Amino acid sequence: MAQNRAIFTLKNGRDAARRTARTTYYLTVNLPPAFSASMQTQLGADFSLFEKTLATEPPVSIRLNPAKRGYDAAGLAPVPWHPEGYYLPERPVFTLDPVFHAGGYYVQEASSMVLHEVLDQCVPSKYPLRVLDLCAAPGGKSTLLASWMPEGSLLLANEVIRSRVTVLKENLERWGSPDTFTCSYDPEAFSKLNGFFDLVLVDAPCSGEGLFRKDPDAIQEWSPEHVQLCSARQRRILAAAVKLVAPGGMLLYSTCTYNELENDQNAQWLAENQKLTHLDIDLPTEWGINARDYGYQCYPHHLRGEGFYFAAFRQTRGVPFSGKPARYMDKLKSKSLHKREEAALADWLDEDADFFFVQRPDDTVLGAPRHLKEDLLFLDAALPQGVWLREMGAFKGKDLIPAQDLAMSTAISADLPAVELDREMSLLFLKKESILLPEAPKGWLLAQHRGLNLGWMKNLGNRVNNYLPKDWRIRMEIREG
Ligand code: SAM
Repeated sequence: MAQNRAIFTLKNGRDAARRTARTTYYLTVNLPPAFSASMQTQLGADFSLFEKTLATEPPVSIRLNPAKRGYDAAGLAPVPWHPEGYYLPERPVFTLDPVFHAGGYYVQEASSMVLHEVLDQCVPSKYPLRVLDLCAAPGGKSTLLASWMPEGSLLLANEVIRSRVTVLKENLERWGSPDTFTCSYDPEAFSKLNGFFDLVLVDAPCSGEGLFRKDPDAIQEWSPEHVQLCSARQRRILAAAVKLVAPGGMLLYSTCTYNELENDQNAQWLAENQKLTHLDIDLPTEWGINARDYGYQCYPHHLRGEGFYFAAFRQTRGVPFSGKPARYMDKLKSKSLHKREEAALADWLDEDADFFFVQRPDDTVLGAPRHLKEDLLFLDAALPQGVWLREMGAFKGKDLIPAQDLAMSTAISADLPAVELDREMSLLFLKKESILLPEAPKGWLLAQHRGLNLGWMKNLGNRVNNYLPKDWRIRMEIREG
């Protein structure tokens, strides 16, 4: 093992470099005059404090994964509105933290974590829900929903822009919830699922005013015309979303912007034109979240977080879902799995995990909890290319080559052979280097850090093959010191 040891120092860490650039930038940036004028109208005397706050460093916050303990949050300041949310004293280089790669936490802007409280208040039942996150990439709210939703629920995370689906899938794989599935459609492509979902989140693409402090590009892209364009696009997305909500179900709308056109005016339109009932949320005054006419606004000068707007609605009318399920997962061109292979797969999963499996033409085996099969067959029938199930692996003869998705899943068996790696060894593994494990058993091994799975290795005796997917490899240069 000694040959593997190395002391790591960060060379040109991208996160750190970006931070330095951002800090310098912010002290010199000018807000667009039309934006300042509209915020002056909105905030009155408060505007100068708002403007000063935008020139300060944004807080850094993370949300822990309750299904994957491994991060020590002792001594950290909690985010008041989320039981798993914490502020970090400064921005670390997350890439160098194996717990981050294992899905132990998600780096999420604090204000947006308030959706957890909104959901707790608006959906007190603990019945299984069908949940749709319509604008999901990179997956922050989807991971929040996955951890929040009652047992037995299904979450479909949709991202229309294909190039953003990879990061969404990867983040959801890391999070490990087996009841979360992805797809990539325009909101209008869901029209055969009218009335299907109990909860639809529209975290809409917006003008991003609330991110001005965190993301300088948002300032460059801002213009009054862009705000108009965003507002119109949001209405199109919302009009499609409203129809998908089951009678009695809930629509949650959010943006990371401040202007009325994209926020309360769209919320008013949902209440008046789309006939949704708008819901009041009870928020402690000390949280510093401002009530608007329909929704709620987080401002960076009132709380430790960025600009964020949200509004919650009940569908009191709507049409109940009346679709038919597919007979089998036809859209994936899949076939059922041989009984012997099904039995073999059971050994890789937790004994409480009751899954069904299908096999794609390329032999990849996909799976999902059996109690969600009927819902997944409805989705398969209704969506042009169905949805992506979770990857288990592929059989080569009798042997399974396990997938990364399986390694990260919280449904994986806890009894599989595993090797605990310290931080340095974990980083070697995450750089996809081969590591030496003279004392480890032969065959498939889980690489673990603090008991959390990082991926697969195969010990052949004379060498260990590293099965981390190429796309997951840490590319940052880490220098041995
Ligand atoms: N919910 C995500 C999270 O918490 O990580 C952030 C979502 S971001 C604010 C909005 C998303 O909507 C982007 O990923 C964007 O690609 C997507 N989007 C852009 N145009 C869209 C459209 N016309 N319909 C639906 N989604 C769209």
